[in-house]
Amino acid sequence: MDNPSRVALVTGGSSGIGSCVAQLLARDGCDIAVLDLKRPNESDSALYHIQSLGKQVCFLEANVSKSEEVNTAVETLVSRWGRIDILVNCAGIFRDQVIWKMNDEQWRDVIDVDLSGVFYCCRAVSPIMRAAKKGAIVNISSINGMRGKFGQTNYAAAKAGVIGLTKTLARELARRNVTVNAVAPGLIETPILQNMSETARLDAVAEILLGRTGQVEDVGEMVSFLCSDRARFITGEVIRVDGGQYI
Ligand code: NAD
Repeated sequence: MDNPSRVALVTGGSSGIGSCVAQLLARDGCDIAVLDLKRPNESDSALYHIQSLGKQVCFLEANVSKSEEVNTAVETLVSRWGRIDILVNCAGIFRDQVIWKMNDEQWRDVIDVDLSGVFYCCRAVSPIMRAAKKGAIVNISSINGMRGKFGQTNYAAAKAGVIGLTKTLARELARRNVTVNAVAPGLIETPILQNMSETARLDAVAEILLGRTGQVEDVGEMVSFLCSDRARFITGEVIRVDGGQYI
């Protein structure tokens, strides 16, 4: 079935940055597929907001760290709406621990979701975008993938890996008019920060030149731009959205 609207697939779209990205891309005229482990909360107005904009929204329950689940979700979406124009990889976790105490599970969980998950999703949509000779992929990395962070060998390695993956995929898809970029946020107010200690938060805020934590819209608007035609000559780029936390 052919869908005249652009279709955006947003992983991790049930919460935080991904939920905001889903709403902003709907504002930009896209129908939205949210791929996540869990549906958004009933109280979360994101899905209603997307529908109130007159756009379609569908939920694909899948674990990005399982390649078969990603492939099935992408096949389901293509059979339903016939196209995928945009992929935004937002799904992510962290399991902080200093390396001498980090167990195999903490290492693997983060690499599996934050790096392999991006690989599986990019691999699944690449043939679709290559055939369409058009598309935009945005991968959410982190400034900690650029600078490292105490207690985050797993997360920093995964997020640095996302940058290498992004630059390579930009080279591989450029001839088919598909752009691939990464956004590297600093500290952004989302549920992922719930377990952060007050001391760690204050230390992080002290690093931020603009003197505040980021809002999801700060990241979402950059993603919206990179997915738009206004960014058609930008590919292989990593853009920090961090209020000057890392310069
Ligand atoms: P969040 O916890 O609010 O949202 C993450 C979403 O990913 C959730 O809906 C969760 O269910 C989903 N998810 C987790 N594991 C998944 C899996 N295996 N399969 C499918 N979905 C899964 O977090 P957030 O802060 O919005 O983070 C979004 C992205 O931004 C992450 O990649 C994170 O690493 C990155 N990031 C966040 C910050 C920050 O300060 N919040 C900073 C830098 C980078």
